[in-house]
Amino acid sequence: MSPTARLMDGTALARQIVEQAAERAAALTERTGQAPCLATVLVGEDPASETYVRMKRNRCGKAGIRSRHVALPAATTTGELVDTLTALSQDPEVHGILLQHPVGPHIDERAAFEAIAPEKDVDGVTYHSFATMSFGAEGFASCTPGGILRLLDHYGVEPAGKHAVVVGRSAILGKPVGMLLLGRNATVTYCHSRTTDLAAHTRQADILIAAVGRPRLLTADHIKPGAVVIDAGYNPGNIGDVDFDSAATRASLITPVPGGVGPMTIATLLTQTVDAAARQLKGA
Ligand code: NAP
Repeated sequence: MSPTARLMDGTALARQIVEQAAERAAALTERTGQAPCLATVLVGEDPASETYVRMKRNRCGKAGIRSRHVALPAATTTGELVDTLTALSQDPEVHGILLQHPVGPHIDERAAFEAIAPEKDVDGVTYHSFATMSFGAEGFASCTPGGILRLLDHYGVEPAGKHAVVVGRSAILGKPVGMLLLGRNATVTYCHSRTTDLAAHTRQADILIAAVGRPRLLTADHIKPGAVVIDAGYNPGNIGDVDFDSAATRASLITPVPGGVGPMTIATLLTQTVDAAARQLKGA
């Protein structure tokens, strides 16, 4: 019989992290009279995006974090979105801002992200957050990468000295998770759509991060025996970027989809919202 990898249970760990965030939110509210508040901004009516925002707001509510939702029509211009985000950035009652993406092809998403004040960028999407995260300074991590690092820590996976291979280089996922792993002294290789012989690279990975958006792209053939496999992919039908059944015969630890990286993303968002509120209400 083939050996089977141990599961990395993101749902259980995220629950613990959200409980800790809730305790901190309650203490902050008691001390300052102000509950942490996350503003969520959604452009258009994409059902998947609406669901994600609803889930995030529900979790906030359960953790004692207020949320304020701004729903904008699909025809919103870049200028209008920038104005909305600038106003939220200046509103002292809002401590964190989440712009749900994608925002639609007619909007300059980067211009919108950059309208979020760095101290409220709890989703970690601005240039400022990328820089502070990469330099290990105080700031906010991109939520999914931050969640992945917590998962590794919880399962005792020490990145230092390991070879981490990240498949994908998007601004919100692949690139920042590589920077966090580098900051933890892993040797990092990035693969992407122009990489030749993907499997030759991934088979060298002690830690393999799949951040692609291609259902079951990575199979047992891509995995070094004993590797730690993190599947951040979330494709229609709850399918990851890793072919779980075959990968689990090679990996030592592996995340399921769903129930691995996804819950950790929301837990990181909530934690960082409480962090943002704590910093902003410090003197209150
Ligand atoms: P993205 O912006 O589309 O980026 C995909 C990356 O994969 C790109 O860098 C692309 O390379 C690379 N790629 C595409 N095809 C490839 C191939 N055949 N071989 C190697 N690399 C390839 O996607 P994303 O936003 O990073 O999301 C990736 C996945 O993670 C999606 O399934 C998404 O749903 C999921 N996700 C999950 C969470 C969560 O909370 N669980 C959060 C965010 C994203 P190029 O740069 O060369 O185009």
